[in-house]
Amino acid sequence: MEYFDWSAKQAANRPTSTAISDLDSGRDLSYAELDQRSSALAGYLQSAGITRSDRVAILARNSPHFFELEFACGKIGSIGVPLNWRLSVPELEYIVNDCGPKVLFYDVRFSDQAKHLQTLCGVNTLVAIDFEADDEYEAALARQLDYKPAKLTHDDVALIMYTSGTTGHPKGAMITHGMNFINCVNLGIPARITPDTVQLVVLPLFHTGGLNCYANPVLHAGGQILLMREFDPGAALNILGDPERQVTHFFGVPAPYQFMMIHPQFANTDLSRLQIAGVGGAPCAEAILRAWSDRGVAMIQAWGMTETSPGGISLDADDAARKIGSAGKPLMHTQIRIVDDAGAPVADGGVGELLIRGPNITPGYWNNAQATADSFIDDWLKTGDAARMDDEGFIYIVDRWKDMYISGGENVYPAEVEDVLYQLPQVAEAAIIGVPDERWGEAGKAILVMKPGETLDADTVIGHCLQNLAKFKVPASVEYLDALPRNATGKVLKRVLRDRYVADNAPAIT
Ligand code: ADP
Repeated sequence: MEYFDWSAKQAANRPTSTAISDLDSGRDLSYAELDQRSSALAGYLQSAGITRSDRVAILARNSPHFFELEFACGKIGSIGVPLNWRLSVPELEYIVNDCGPKVLFYDVRFSDQAKHLQTLCGVNTLVAIDFEADDEYEAALARQLDYKPAKLTHDDVALIMYTSGTTGHPKGAMITHGMNFINCVNLGIPARITPDTVQLVVLPLFHTGGLNCYANPVLHAGGQILLMREFDPGAALNILGDPERQVTHFFGVPAPYQFMMIHPQFANTDLSRLQIAGVGGAPCAEAILRAWSDRGVAMIQAWGMTETSPGGISLDADDAARKIGSAGKPLMHTQIRIVDDAGAPVADGGVGELLIRGPNITPGYWNNAQATADSFIDDWLKTGDAARMDDEGFIYIVDRWKDMYISGGENVYPAEVEDVLYQLPQVAEAAIIGVPDERWGEAGKAILVMKPGETLDADTVIGHCLQNLAKFKVPASVEYLDALPRNATGKVLKRVLRDRYVADNAPAIT
């Protein structure tokens, strides 16, 4: 199917309507301006030597630049790569080497990281974005260069979004224009997204949750998004309650909802204009769902992955109370299956691995045929999530079979943290598990076995991790054992560790 340029279409349909409000700068972009700026960016990129399928990366806090880049890439067929600024330089180095962007746009807050990456990975061109001053980005747009449009189909790759991997290295999920489109349909229907939608967007735009729940679907529909540079619970409540703003939609992982509900302003904020409040990306504690429902907000729960655009399964607000704890039913243009170890469908109500297929699923990982082959059974994506279906077809995510936990909405793969722990010469064995954490949902616990005669205090272990890993991956606590529990083949039994340590912890939120 042919890809049509969304920003050009909306500029023709509703040129003066506001597409994006950048709350921190107070600047509004109309659809005409969004299209003009994306076109000028496309012209600049071609002048910088970017051709079809070339990668262009962005390392920035939330701002309209993400969308200008996305639509510029759609005009000339280049591929956008949003980078997670929470990662450390060695983590980013791996990603930048993997996808080889020729141009990197960077927020001056991350100048050091950008300059290191240029040296380490040989990025051709750096372009600075400064939210407070004239910058290289605006100078590039001011040149108003023309571009030669590319004719694209829905199978062309629009973005590469990196997700952590079980092997310890991130994998670049290829996101096609078709996946983006199907996500607008899949999420747009249950979330009732229309040209009248006004969404407050607080999740980081370098993650699928920020970009696609529901920002891209809102722009596709011709609605308005309000962007917050970084999430702040008090400021978010102010915007949600502001009659001038008329915010109708919000989406978050559980953490922002939790931070808002414990904020002193929560009880007095007028939430009556909020029609849709989506939550997903991690299991949402009932206490959060109930606190918001007591304030008249019935949250829509959703399950998704970067690889699934991300909309996969969603629970309608009407069923929210009756089916509390369920992720809902598969969205319109996707199919699911629950299978046993042999790949056979499990009997009614049984627990198995969730598989998913359809036009919302990634064609695979950039530059990583092995990871792609390992992730699919025919065209069914293996999610690594354990699920069951009730007799009405509602799906419950009951566990995770992939070795992963989620801290404040960020996925952490223990293998990556364990590799860093093994760099410590005193460590004989290391394992990381996720344990309940009141603030972040889950936090890492390191379990170490020392070499004979060696000791290492927790502060030293944590300090070493802080130097090498993004903060959200750094274990919050350290335990010591004489040996790790292992099965007959030598694999560490994480479940035994979880049974041992999780019982000692207070439940996440009760
Ligand atoms: P997202 O940004 O949607 O979280 P990721 O690719 O980062 O996408 O993470 C996907 C994983 O997050 C899923 O495989 C699953 O383990 C977890 N997840 C997402 N939504 C839910 C949910 N509603 N309940 C439980 N786990 C979830």
